[in-house]
Amino acid sequence: MSNIIDGKLVSSAVKERVANEVKELNHKGISVCLAVILVGSDPASQIYVANKKKACEQLGIISKEYLLPETATQDELLALVNELNADKTVNGILCQLPLPKGLDEKVVIEAIDPNKDVDAFHPVNVGRIMIGDYDFLPCTPAGVMEMLSFYNIDVCGKECVVIGRSNIVGKPMSMLLLHKNGTVTIAHSRTQNLAEVTRRADILVAAVGKAKFVTADMVKDGAVVIDVGMNRADGKLCGDVDFDPVSKKASYITPVPGGVGPMTIATLMQNTLTAAKRQNNIN
Ligand code: NAP
Repeated sequence: MSNIIDGKLVSSAVKERVANEVKELNHKGISVCLAVILVGSDPASQIYVANKKKACEQLGIISKEYLLPETATQDELLALVNELNADKTVNGILCQLPLPKGLDEKVVIEAIDPNKDVDAFHPVNVGRIMIGDYDFLPCTPAGVMEMLSFYNIDVCGKECVVIGRSNIVGKPMSMLLLHKNGTVTIAHSRTQNLAEVTRRADILVAAVGKAKFVTADMVKDGAVVIDVGMNRADGKLCGDVDFDPVSKKASYITPVPGGVGPMTIATLMQNTLTAAKRQNNIN
């Protein structure tokens, strides 16, 4: 039976670190502020935005919410982004995705000042992650790296397989593992003999978006299994990994819920703090 990687525990440690630093900044007269834009009324997005607001409140970060109607135009949204870019009291800007139909996510992401882009989605920040010289951490993958480090799981020289190549999870995840000297394979929907590839992994990251996709026969004995997936099956939240059988083979495994999920918001808070520090010339 494997060890459970406890995302709540690790995210609490990150949040405590951030809260202490926010307090120190406040003592110097510097406040930390995150602006969150939500367009429309997608129920999942509303929950994500509410959770981000709650985390800000817990950590002493000011959160400003900007709610635009489903009918908002691209120009209206860009005008708001430009206003927030220019607002010196706002350190971080996040536009909750997905946007309603008719709005171009790419244009909006590129309009956000890269120095306030706490999601690290702007091409400038993506490029910096690629180079390995970056301030803003890609939220979910950085959360995974934090978990590995917390549990003293060394990546150096290990076979790492990431299933998924999205811009927000799979690709940046692979880069962060590579920066830690993992030997990284990125698998995707066109990968042939996927189980053969995943069975090589000492560290297997699943970011597929399909419930219980990773079965025990795809996992090497003693592997570390990280489940990024957040899927609904039979009304319940579940990951990409078939947890019970896989946990009998893995040395470490993340549960869903309570694994990677809480780490994403913790990293967002970390990025907002970093933005405030950089904008006030503090290292
Ligand atoms: P995505 O954009 O849909 O990407 C899914 C990836 O999985 C794609 O690269 C796709 O390959 C690959 N894939 C699909 N079917 C496959 C198959 N049969 N075999 C191998 N690869 C396959 O999803 P995402 O945004 O990366 O998110 C992935 C999961 O993580 C979702 O469940 C999402 O909800 C969750 N998530 C969780 C958090 C968190 O905070 N925990 C944050 C973000 C996302 P192709 O590129 O070839 O299509």
